[in-house]
Amino acid sequence: MTGTPEEKSLKGLFIRTYGCQMNVYDSERIRDVLRPLGYAPVEAPEAADLVVVNTCHIREKATEKVYSELGQLKRMKEASGGRMTIAVAGCVAQAEGEELIRRQPAVDLVLGPQAYHKLPEMIARASRAIGDRLETEFDTIEKFDALPKTREADGPTAFVSVQEGCDKFCTFCVVPYTRGAEISRRVDDIVFETRSLASQGVREITLLGQNVNAFHGPAPVIEGGDDWTLGQLCRHLSKIGGIERIRYTTSHPRDMDDDLISAHGDTPALMPFLHLPVQSGSDRILKAMNRGHTADHYRDIIARVRQARPDIAIASDFIIGFPGESDADFEATMQLVRDIGYAIAYSFKYSSRPGTPAAEMHGHLSEVVKDERLQALQGLLREQQTEFNASQIGKSLPVLVTGKGRNPGQMHGRSPYLQAVHFEGPESLNGKIVDVKVVGASLNSLTGELMRVREAVL
Ligand code: SF4
Repeated sequence: MTGTPEEKSLKGLFIRTYGCQMNVYDSERIRDVLRPLGYAPVEAPEAADLVVVNTCHIREKATEKVYSELGQLKRMKEASGGRMTIAVAGCVAQAEGEELIRRQPAVDLVLGPQAYHKLPEMIARASRAIGDRLETEFDTIEKFDALPKTREADGPTAFVSVQEGCDKFCTFCVVPYTRGAEISRRVDDIVFETRSLASQGVREITLLGQNVNAFHGPAPVIEGGDDWTLGQLCRHLSKIGGIERIRYTTSHPRDMDDDLISAHGDTPALMPFLHLPVQSGSDRILKAMNRGHTADHYRDIIARVRQARPDIAIASDFIIGFPGESDADFEATMQLVRDIGYAIAYSFKYSSRPGTPAAEMHGHLSEVVKDERLQALQGLLREQQTEFNASQIGKSLPVLVTGKGRNPGQMHGRSPYLQAVHFEGPESLNGKIVDVKVVGASLNSLTGELMRVREAVL
């Protein structure tokens, strides 16, 4: 439900989410945690009793945006006569806790990513002006256990958190410091949540984790109780009635084990799309980044995944202009991109994060050099993405319908390769899987003609 809370007893909740899909998921769970307390979503912060800013610390710009947003919220809070409570969650909260409260005293609560299940207790404390405003302890297992076991679905796709944290310590990244060590959720709990989503019409789930393929959650006792790999988990979840599509993100090359690779071949529900960040194609830079693999190791993984699932589309992330990156290092990245051929990729200029080893390294590059390289890389990636999309023309793709399109009579959905697909069709198709013949392609989407509706496998 959105809009003004309809009943007097309801309190307005506005959540602003920055950053990755993990944060999008966390925001949904914050909403779930607060629902029993009478909080209902509103569309604008002005109408809210509680505003949660769920933050991302990965880039400097994102952090500055948070402070500027908090300045605006302070003015709204004053205009509300102090009625509004402001909470800051996520990775900036974890990394800068005390500093946040010092820089913006209008902030009532600061809670790290492992603490949002404690939000009700913190709100109660804040309303009585007692206790600490800061909650940034790491306790992921407690968080997983304390969250409501069922979820309210919001459409035919949903995220399901299976793993949190990271032990990899890439030298450019703050996540191991803000999200803590790698922890996996129990299979039973994941199954319970997935069943509850499926019963509400969810057809596609995306398993989430900072290092999702490092998953090693304990299996149900009836299944032996050992720790399962992500491949085993995917096979198990694919048997749940209604769940027809499974994806996972974000994965690390070091954790791409043989079982997960073979799951791509033997589990049809596992979508033919793999987002496997590589960051650089230069072994020297990969070593300086502490990625723990070489460019050829990455090429080998992709070759094996393609052998298991020949139609798989590959996506990646790149960081351009890491300290010490030479022309030759950059060229190695360009060569890797030419070798792999990406369906889509996300590329960013290196941005220094205080407290990370890379921030202290020599050889930081000028913005001009970083800009030039980024443009060259993005040009190549755009070409590949356009080519990949165009290669679908004439094919019939199963599309999960996710909503109405921009034009009257138009619907949109997702292809197995995570492309946006637009086609003419009735609204009653929402949430169904339909076959669409692709007739047009652009950089960001496909257009097609509706062929037939598939029956749901329940
Ligand atoms: S694998 Fe590296 S980039 Fe990914 S969260 Fe861990 S430290 Fe950060």
